[in-house]
Formats: sequence, C-alpha cells, structure tokens
Amino acid sequence: APNSALTSAPGSAPASPATGGENALHLSGLAKCFDTTPVFQEIEADIAHGEFITLLGPSGCGKSTLLRAIAGLTLLDQGRIRVGGDDITYLPPQRRGVGMVFQHYALFPNMTVAGNVAFGLRMQRVEAGERARRVEEVVRLVELTDQAHKFPQQLSGGQRQRVALARALVVEPRVLLMDEPLSALDARIRRHLRDQIREIQRSLGLTTLFVTHDQEEALLISDRVFLMHQGRILQQASAETLYSRPVDKAAAGFMGHYN
Ligand code: ADP
Ligand code: MG
Repeated sequence: APNSALTSAPGSAPASPATGGENALHLSGLAKCFDTTPVFQEIEADIAHGEFITLLGPSGCGKSTLLRAIAGLTLLDQGRIRVGGDDITYLPPQRRGVGMVFQHYALFPNMTVAGNVAFGLRMQRVEAGERARRVEEVVRLVELTDQAHKFPQQLSGGQRQRVALARALVVEPRVLLMDEPLSALDARIRRHLRDQIREIQRSLGLTTLFVTHDQEEALLISDRVFLMHQGRILQQASAETLYSRPVDKAAAGFMGHYN
C-alpha cells in the first residue's frame, strides 16, 4: 500500500514502479482557461515516487489553479493526469488518491483536532476502532497528541496547519499537494514547520507537490523546483541548477540575477 509507513512496520518494501512509465505523478498537456484567458497551458511533468517537488512562481501565475486541477477541485480544459500509472483525469476528488493542504487550513471549527483528522475516514466508512487507531498514529506523527481534544480556535497557526496536514495524511494519499501551507505563518514557525513537513514526507516516502512564491523556501525544501511563470513551467531542476543555469531571462530574473 502507498504510505505503508503509516500502517505497517518500517522497512516494509515501498511501492516501486514496474516500469519507468509508472511515475508517481504524470502530467501531460494540461491546460485551463477562465473564460478566454489562459491560466496555465502545456504543463508537462513527471514526478518520481517519494520526490519532493516545489512549484515556485509569482502570485497570479496559476499555481493554485494547477494544484486544484490535480486534486479534481476544478476541471481541466485539456490534458491527462496519471497517478501511479492510473489515469485519474476524470475521477472525483475523493477517488484520486490525492491529498491537499491549503494555506488557510480549512478546518471544521466545531470539531476537535481528532474529529477533524477522523473526518476523511468517516467519509470512507472506516470502522470506529480502525479509525481511532489511524487518527492516533497520524496525530502523533504531527506531534499534536496533547492537543487532540482541542478545537481549532484554541490552537496556534502552526498547530492548525499540522492538523490540516494530519487530515490529508490519514487517508494515505498517493500524492500530497500543499498550497502555500506556510505563507500565513510567522518566520520562526514557518522555518520549523518547513523542516517538519520535509521530515514527515521523507519518513513516509510520500510524493509531494508543494507550492510557494518564496524562493528561499523552495530552494531549501525541495528535491527539484518547477519554476512557473505566466501559466507555463519554464524550468524543472534542482535548486543548484536553477540558480547556476537559469534557462531564460524570466527564470534568471526570478532567481534574482539582475535587480
Ligand atoms: P497563484 O496561485 O499562482 O497566485 P492562481 O491559480 O490563484 O495563481 O490564479 C491564476 C490566475 O487565474 C489569476 O490571474 C487569477 O486571477 C485567475 N483566477 C483564479 N481563479 C479564478 C476564477 N475562479 N475565475 C476567474 N479567474 C480566476
Ligand atoms: Mg495561490
């Protein structure tokens, strides 16, 4: 099973693709317009199992809409999305095996931490005993065990975002999407949670697409960065390559080479 670290002993074999064609996440020819204005186009990407990718680009370049399209929260005009070799392009959000964390938490205010985390499992009709066990495990992973009985308004921003992360993880997604999960937090908490997200992602071997407009954050957290500009991905590379060999003027500009 994907994310076996959540449910089985460490050391059990991670899912590995039988062929190079079965990338964890494969995007081909994705395009989306609002009315007649293109929001993104010609999006092509292959993300490997366990890879941490950051989609980096200025406000308005189409990052959130692209993430929402992958999650099935907005419809594509063109293109196909595959997860682990399965075509999910037309599946409803809850059937995609894709988890999402939003900038502004989107927690249920009238449910406790444990209740928020359990929600997705209740929707999947996971039996109560199993549900309690999985909730406890994920709440421990995000270090909120002592807060499990509290309500969102009793928590700090960083804690709320950890609840949102736990809620996304508990259903064992094959791909985790995170839309500026750190942007609403102050600098110290942001760095701490950034490192914590990366550590959890590594421990689970979870394929992750993380969005930010913060260059430093992108360079510090990722295996590879996808640099996005006006609805297109300009370059897909390691932080080092992006910095030392930007593909064009827009990429160089965004990396701060002339200002
Ligand atoms: P980012 O997350 O990179 O800031 P978005 O994906 O939110 O970018 O937005 C990309 C573009 O699409 C922006 O120009 C925005 O105004 C436009 N847009 C986003 N959502 C909608 C919508 N529901 N209807 C019309 N235009 C939208
Ligand atoms: Mg956005």
